[in-house]
Amino acid sequence: MTLENALFPTSQLYQTLVDESSQGITVADLKGGYIFVNPAFCQIMGYSEVALLNMNMFDIKAPKQDDSPFEQTISVKENQIIQVLLQRKDGSTFMSEVVEKSINIDGNTYVFSTIQDISKRIAIEQTLINNEKRNCMVMKIANDGIWSWHLNTNTVEFNERYYTMAGYEKDAFPASVDEWLKRVHADDIAHITHNVESYLAGKSAEYDVEFRFLRKNNTYMWIRGKGEVVESDSTGKPLRFIGTHSDISVQKEHEEKILHQAHFDSLTFLPNRFLSLDRLELACEEAKRNNELVALLFLDLDDFKKVNDTLGHDVGDQLLIDAANRLRNVVRSVDTVGRLGGDEFIIILGGLKKIEEAQPIVENLLNQFRKIFVINARELLLTTSVGIAIYPNDASDASELLRNADSAMYDAKKCGRNTYSYYTRQMNECAQRRLAIEEQLHGALARNEFSVHYQPKIDLVNTKIMGAEALLRWHNPVLGNVPPDEFISVAEQTGAIIPLGQFVLKQAVKQTAIWQKNFDDSFQIAVNLSPRQFRDLQLINVIKQTLNETNITSGSLELEITEGVLLSGHRQVREVLNSITNLGIKMAMDDFGTGYSSLSYLRTYPFDVLKIDRSFINDMTSNSKDKALINAVIAMSHALNLKVVAEGIETKQQFELLRTLGCDYGQGYLFSKPLTTDDMTTLLKDTSSMNYSFEL
Ligand code: C2E
Ligand code: MG
Ligand code: MG
Repeated sequence: MTLENALFPTSQLYQTLVDESSQGITVADLKGGYIFVNPAFCQIMGYSEVALLNMNMFDIKAPKQDDSPFEQTISVKENQIIQVLLQRKDGSTFMSEVVEKSINIDGNTYVFSTIQDISKRIAIEQTLINNEKRNCMVMKIANDGIWSWHLNTNTVEFNERYYTMAGYEKDAFPASVDEWLKRVHADDIAHITHNVESYLAGKSAEYDVEFRFLRKNNTYMWIRGKGEVVESDSTGKPLRFIGTHSDISVQKEHEEKILHQAHFDSLTFLPNRFLSLDRLELACEEAKRNNELVALLFLDLDDFKKVNDTLGHDVGDQLLIDAANRLRNVVRSVDTVGRLGGDEFIIILGGLKKIEEAQPIVENLLNQFRKIFVINARELLLTTSVGIAIYPNDASDASELLRNADSAMYDAKKCGRNTYSYYTRQMNECAQRRLAIEEQLHGALARNEFSVHYQPKIDLVNTKIMGAEALLRWHNPVLGNVPPDEFISVAEQTGAIIPLGQFVLKQAVKQTAIWQKNFDDSFQIAVNLSPRQFRDLQLINVIKQTLNETNITSGSLELEITEGVLLSGHRQVREVLNSITNLGIKMAMDDFGTGYSSLSYLRTYPFDVLKIDRSFINDMTSNSKDKALINAVIAMSHALNLKVVAEGIETKQQFELLRTLGCDYGQGYLFSKPLTTDDMTTLLKDTSSMNYSFEL
């Protein structure tokens, strides 16, 4: 149908507009009968133009609609917008928006309508309504605080939970960002602002922060905040930013606890090994940047193990706590004191310009330990040995620095404890040597690398050989001959001393049986026992078994121990000592004059023999004090029924002086160096069954 044969003659332009419009356009008479429909309307309804022109407005209305908007509007003159469900030719229905208006042409009234399919728009609106409803629900029931921030007005809405979460009344503070910020921990404000700005500027993909928020009760709670921009303007500028704030205080507490446990020692609360080494690394890096020095002090408490063993772990723990406090007191606030474990501590002195700057702190440190510790009303003296290494002079990184400070500490221990020692290259070599010894010791016994040598012991009155001391010798294909002073302490530490000690004992006793049979049945053998062997529960059994395997009398065996065994304070020391002497074996205290030289030990423990250390004998002819001391020791020992052996007699004067002072026996290079079994056998043969007197 064209407009020419309709009622309205009009221009070509109108014709085109009406034909091309995507909206349906119709004209109907007052009964509803269509007298004009455009192509869009035909398409919307699915009917042909002819079919529609034979239809009525009410024919296309979907059935079962209570009110009849068409009927109401037909009489209305003004623009009327109605929504009505229409039915297409195929029976399907859709919601339409119909704008109707009565128009008057040539005195007749018609209904002019535009019709639009609005089903899509309605669906979208419905989703929006549903979403809004859901959001309201979420805001109400969520356990988290929810906020909605209108960025252009800088106002913010909070849900109820937001307030109650922090212990406030509902609406306790105005819904403004500034009011909210007043309750954020001062240290966290910059962090939040930075995160918000970077997220809104699109520099970070998400907004996710943790901060502290003031509760009503004036304590801070930890909050985790997450949010998202949900509305932006056409230029992409964010308008609305919404998100949640969750209370993560409990989780944070756990985290902090775990973090603390991972970084701090639970006894002393000092940084633990992990954190200390981390700080050491940082200190080295900083020193490198600033051209400065770091002094690393490695401390080990002297004889701490003894305290633990004799007084119990509670006292030991208390002592560690007190020691840690003293350490804290000597350093500057910027320095780190850390506990590496056991009785080992480190102090990191960073930012030094000269090595000498560490010196006063070290001395102050040792001084702190010269004061008595009082624990459970018990007075204890606990000294410490300190090793010092300097970065970058002594090491190129933190771990090397630690290693070298550690070996410097060992050196301090060797220098008699309660002192400090600086790291030197030589010391490092010393540590490497120790390592090599440890490596080679492994399996050395099975490879037959050990032998026992014998040093004759002389009766000073008649200069006869009355026995010998068994001394261990080690020849290793890699290291050559290693002196016992070097390897015994390593074997002590690794535990290798147990089988080694048994080897010496068995060899020496077996050999003694032969010498007793062939030369003199009063020949005495002395065997050294180390502290570790003494703690070995099998010791007594091994000794008994060894004696049983030969036919030497127990009185021919003498076991030498140093004061170290007694100092180690183990309860079973006395029991072991008693068991040994009950077997009829003699006990000798070796190296008397070094270490503590406590005469009280001689009274309290069942000793038979005292051996005066070589260092005293060495000086006795030149040093009158030493001579007086030896005199006193001999007299005292005799009063306690002990025989006295002088070690390391090298000169005739020493021998004669000792004889004058009443010393019973002696050994030393003057008489003989330690000999192989064969050489000893030859010597015994030469001295015609022990009746030989030394030609002096
Ligand atoms: P020690 O028990 O005090 O042994 C005496 C040490 O002094 C021996 O050193 C001996 O060779 C040395 N000596 C003896 N007379 C003289 C002398 O006139 N001048 C000098 N300068 N030295 C003399 P050696 O054999 O090197 O043993 C050193 C230490 O190693 C021993 O000291 C002992 O403590 C330990 N040792 C040796 N063998 C054993 C062993 O089988 N078991 C244990 N546990 N320790 C052993
Ligand atoms: Mg000895
Ligand atoms: Mg000795």
